[in-house]
Amino acid sequence: MTDFDVIVVGSGMSGGWVAKELCEKGFKVAVIERGKAISPTEDYTDFIDPWDMEHLNRKTDQDREDYPIQSTVYAFQSYTKQFWVKDKEHPYETAEGTDFGWLRGYHEGGRSIMWGRQSYRMSEIDFEANKKDGHGVDWPVRYDDIAPWYDYVEKFAGISGSTEGLEILPDGVFQPPHDLTCAEIDFKAKLEENFPGRTLIPGRVANLTEPTQEQMELGRGKCMARNHCFQGCSFGAYFSSNSATLPAARRTGNMTFIPERAVHKVIMDEETGRASGVETVDINSGEKSLITARVVFLNAGTIPSTMILLNSATEDAPNGLANSSGQLGRNLMDHHSGARGSAILPGNLDKHTFGRRPNGFYIPRFRNHTEEAEGFVRGFGYQGGATRTRWWTSMGKKGVGEDFKAEGREPGPWRISMVAFGEVLPNEKNHVRLHETKTDEWGFPVPVLDVAWGENETNMVRQAIRDTRAMLEAAGGIDIQTDDPETAMPATPGRGIHEMGTARMGRDPKTSVLNEWNQSWDVPNLFITDGSFMTSGGCQNPSLTYMAFSARAAHHAAELMNEGKL
Ligand SMILES: Cc1cc2nc3c(=O)[nH]c(=O)nc-3n(C[C@H](O)[C@H](O)[C@H](O)COP(=O)(O)OP(=O)(O)OC[C@H]3O[C@@H](n4cnc5c(N)ncnc54)[C@H](O)[C@@H]3O)c2cc1C
Ligand code: SF4
Repeated sequence: MTDFDVIVVGSGMSGGWVAKELCEKGFKVAVIERGKAISPTEDYTDFIDPWDMEHLNRKTDQDREDYPIQSTVYAFQSYTKQFWVKDKEHPYETAEGTDFGWLRGYHEGGRSIMWGRQSYRMSEIDFEANKKDGHGVDWPVRYDDIAPWYDYVEKFAGISGSTEGLEILPDGVFQPPHDLTCAEIDFKAKLEENFPGRTLIPGRVANLTEPTQEQMELGRGKCMARNHCFQGCSFGAYFSSNSATLPAARRTGNMTFIPERAVHKVIMDEETGRASGVETVDINSGEKSLITARVVFLNAGTIPSTMILLNSATEDAPNGLANSSGQLGRNLMDHHSGARGSAILPGNLDKHTFGRRPNGFYIPRFRNHTEEAEGFVRGFGYQGGATRTRWWTSMGKKGVGEDFKAEGREPGPWRISMVAFGEVLPNEKNHVRLHETKTDEWGFPVPVLDVAWGENETNMVRQAIRDTRAMLEAAGGIDIQTDDPETAMPATPGRGIHEMGTARMGRDPKTSVLNEWNQSWDVPNLFITDGSFMTSGGCQNPSLTYMAFSARAAHHAAELMNEGKL
């Protein structure tokens, strides 16, 4: 007899989905979360404005000292710092000559509270890429296998977007899109006129623009377009585990939520060769305890789930549990994001926006799709926005007096900003391992990240900068700002905040950790559905894909449990 049917480790983007699906199917599920429980009324700060904060919400020297890595990300602000780990308490190392910016939050809901909500499907082109160009291993699934699950999660999560009929970026089940601004509409026209095959569309985001009955029954409301999302959303208007999947799991009465308990190991039953449960450590007292279940799902995030398995080595699995392929910890990917550009777009000075759209535009991948590229395989897509600048940025002036203030009330011209997110190739050399001697304060070995981007990524970033300049010039952009395309380098690994790939799925147990159902080849009652399963990364923001695979894997596990196979 086990304590639960299923253990889900981690309550973030992917763990929330597994919990919901399995609770709704009647299984008793323990969600074990190392961070604290989140109360929207106490922990969200979306009704606090900068002027309500000490230092007008600016980071303090103490913030920079306590959060030297986390405080460098745009979403870290004085009123959001409760959602980020204190770097000193959660140390990691990087191999000599490498760097990695690991950005994370440990609390109920994980990074689904802080995410940018950009939600794009991967396409058949992405699922075939490894097989076609020989990098990594072939995905064991194709677009048609996962398409119904994209439909399924989009309908529940609520994704706003426009239907475009693009092969490279399949359409989904969308709520109405956010409008493009007038400057974006002009830019789109110039782009499509000058570069046939390229297009610009409204960003697809997990913000409710037309909530369904199902969403309203969960207490979720329509997005008010205040753009305070990184502070949490009191309306539950953007998708997070906290607003959507965990409440759905909770209302079944089948979920036991266990906060402030870190999972350190998966425990094996040597007789059956199956996982029997997990070893947990109380974050406050340090006390260890075992929790047992028929099935274990790891959803602690790509790097933490991998660390748990590496730390679960046994005599039979000396290099880490579920690692007979030797691929666990390897092929660590992200999206590289070094190609940025901005320019003033002339005209439209009589127009302004209403509200604060929590979104922007997207330019789907065109390189190595509609247009060939030399020097690299795969491609990149752009996220951006064109908005009226504020007086203080457009004028950069200092001063006092009535005239100065009157001038300051006028908005500046329209400025467009965009950044390319590019695909990183799976590469066995890029890996995470456990430090041989150093541990954190709870006795867990510190991870060592050994990751460096190669020539493919560098050549891609430089092309993305050249393309940015060309598109801004064709639109009549003034004051065009980009890095030098001859010398620019991809952003530091980790800075895309899309870690993936360290327990990849595949067709062959000798070269992959998971089968097509996110199920360990070695330990049949162990599933992993955070980003570690990704066999390649595409260039699309990945969380929607984690959701779809999580729901699919949960349904498969449920079938196996019902058939008595697990
Ligand atoms: C600022 C920002 C912007 C982003 N924007 C986007 C975007 O626009 N689109 C997109 O697709 N993605 C975006 N992302 C990435 C997205 O947030 C992640 O892809 C997603 O949250 C990963 O889901 P997950 O379930 O793997 O991990 P997480 O959501 O990080 O959840 C992991 C959970 O596991 C818990 N945990 C960790 N270790 C243990 C342990 N040992 N025991 C128990 N619990 C543990 C953590 O506390 C956490 O709650 C963004 C992220 C950030 C930070
Ligand atoms: S912009 Fe919309 S989703 Fe974001 S915090 Fe405001 S109401 Fe919530």
